[in-house]
Amino acid sequence: MGAGHDRPRPSGGVSDGHRTAQADHRDRTGDAATTGRDRARPRGRTRGSARPRAGAGRSRTSSVVSLRSATLEGLAPDVRTEPIVAWRAWALTGRRDGDRLLLRPVAKRARTWQPREIVQASCRTSRRHDAPDPLCTCGLHATHTIDVLRRTRCPAVLGRVALWGRVVEHEHGYRAQYAYPQRLRLICQFCFWMSDTRRSTPDHVGWFPHDELIPVCEEHLAVARRNGVSPRLVLPASEVIQRLRDAYAVDPLAV
Ligand SMILES: [Zn+2]
Ligand SMILES: [Zn+2]
Repeated sequence: MGAGHDRPRPSGGVSDGHRTAQADHRDRTGDAATTGRDRARPRGRTRGSARPRAGAGRSRTSSVVSLRSATLEGLAPDVRTEPIVAWRAWALTGRRDGDRLLLRPVAKRARTWQPREIVQASCRTSRRHDAPDPLCTCGLHATHTIDVLRRTRCPAVLGRVALWGRVVEHEHGYRAQYAYPQRLRLICQFCFWMSDTRRSTPDHVGWFPHDELIPVCEEHLAVARRNGVSPRLVLPASEVIQRLRDAYAVDPLAV
């Protein structure tokens, strides 16, 4: 853990949760500085010390999951000094030799999470507020449950992530000002989409152009090859996850 700044490691259990759903749908799960394009209508709730204010009347039912905090115009997000721990998924990039492994938000154009650096949210749609803003979709996302993440488009890594600073809670998770992963594992996205997480352990990590790394189980690697999708190179998953954990100074995720 050397340079690991002060990566927060809450010892007490905290809840789970990594970003929100809609996000996940199209992979904005990703995070953080997301675009504000598909903002959902205000609908969630803000928790913690936040006092919901009248105005709840603004809520509207929507088939889309809200990333916004709900009702509360002008209501400040909670400021957390003790981290919340929640769920999150990332895509993975790295060199063909397994070097330079980086967690990349699944949201397009979101910045990679650098090893041993606290990740700070920024808003891409407005410079007039700090991320996360209760009425925006910005912030570093994490969800309450793993299931929300099954809608993520190309998850390669599943993890528990610490969130702190300003935190906005919504129906499916949180948007936070600061974050850092705490526990990570690789997942075969095909198994993860279809079944329970325990069966998602990959055997291989396929390397594709542009340094895209895709963990897959034996069975799904065979399926991909039968369908004409072959990685340029195949790395052992056990080696990649170890290097990833070493790089970020995190522990294994036991699910
Ligand atoms: Zn914003
Ligand atoms: Zn699989």
